[in-house]
Amino acid sequence: MAEKRDYYEVLGVSKTASADELKKAYRKLAIKYHPDKNPGDKAAEEKFKEAAEAYEVLSDPEKRQRYDQFGHAGVGGAAGGGFSGGGMSMEDIFSHFGDIFGGGGFGGFGGGGSARRTRRGSDLRIRVKLTLKEVATGVEKKIKVRKYVACKHCNGTGAEGNNYSTCTTCNGSGVVTRIQNTMLGRMQTQSACPTCGGEGKIISKKCPHCSGEGVVTEEEVITLNIPAGVMEGMQIPLRGKGNAARHGGVNGDLYVLIEEEEHPELMRDENDLIYNALLTLPVAVNGGTIDIPTVDGKAKVKIEAGTQPGKVLRLKGKGLPRVNGYGNGDLLVNIGVYIPENLSKDERKIFEKLQDSDNMKPSDSAKKSFFERFKSMFE
Ligand SMILES: [Zn+2]
Ligand SMILES: [Zn+2]
Repeated sequence: MAEKRDYYEVLGVSKTASADELKKAYRKLAIKYHPDKNPGDKAAEEKFKEAAEAYEVLSDPEKRQRYDQFGHAGVGGAAGGGFSGGGMSMEDIFSHFGDIFGGGGFGGFGGGGSARRTRRGSDLRIRVKLTLKEVATGVEKKIKVRKYVACKHCNGTGAEGNNYSTCTTCNGSGVVTRIQNTMLGRMQTQSACPTCGGEGKIISKKCPHCSGEGVVTEEEVITLNIPAGVMEGMQIPLRGKGNAARHGGVNGDLYVLIEEEEHPELMRDENDLIYNALLTLPVAVNGGTIDIPTVDGKAKVKIEAGTQPGKVLRLKGKGLPRVNGYGNGDLLVNIGVYIPENLSKDERKIFEKLQDSDNMKPSDSAKKSFFERFKSMFE
């Protein structure tokens, strides 16, 4: 499963890009990968869709804010599950952004990107355990993360006082060329110089604070704003909060993996909550009011006289909020009835008296609904 790319990276813009810059960047990509220009090219079509998806999110201020805070998880592209991206069809793209293509013919936007690679720090993963109550409301968590940060003394370069010398392996070019004999003949391959790692220069005086690494280990306290409705297994990416790269470069990302603490009484099914209520026999027979747990304290639920075990009461909206912000799930109360096991002599007499009463016998409709429910469990 391919990891979804960062939307800013897809459009090739900075995180602070204005609406105008976003539009320009998207337009350029849309033209470059336009299906009319790349007939039958599946890779171009994927790029075209990817750019549209990125623009769809980033051009909407509210979605952009959620994306900035929670990454793909914040805009419906839940990580971890079977989500495979590509939320928009070609028709969607043309009907949404048709105006982007109007007014300007296809021009000569060539490739010619720079081949220089940027060093990137490694990603970090941390787990955060949440209670159901925290899931219900969303929560701010402060977490301590031990990670590599750029050494302040040498600005992450690893070189004391900018002391470098030209690499003698590659004579400063950063690349080494090898000639290989292959089945196709002699081939020339170029790769990054192993001595200087492609820099073309080597540190002649190492920074004493980081021993020339450019990074030091530090503990950072990160404030996480976890939205309501997250689920076990979701990952929230925090761009640039991972390890710093050695000798300067781009920070890796920090992935916050959501875990859920088990609730002693409530079970979760997506955004619904389930509570199994065991009624006493008199309450099932005569009706009454019972207390049931919810994520924020107790709630009172009315039980009708003659409530059968197996009945499910649905408390609308008393479940968990959906992470995309659209409404709440329900709280389902599964009814069971407790048959008393230990009775006093007097109590037993009461049941003996009731034994032969016709009212104790299940009606035809009760028998039928019991049978139907049982049958539906096997379907
Ligand atoms: Zn240093
Ligand atoms: Zn070199």
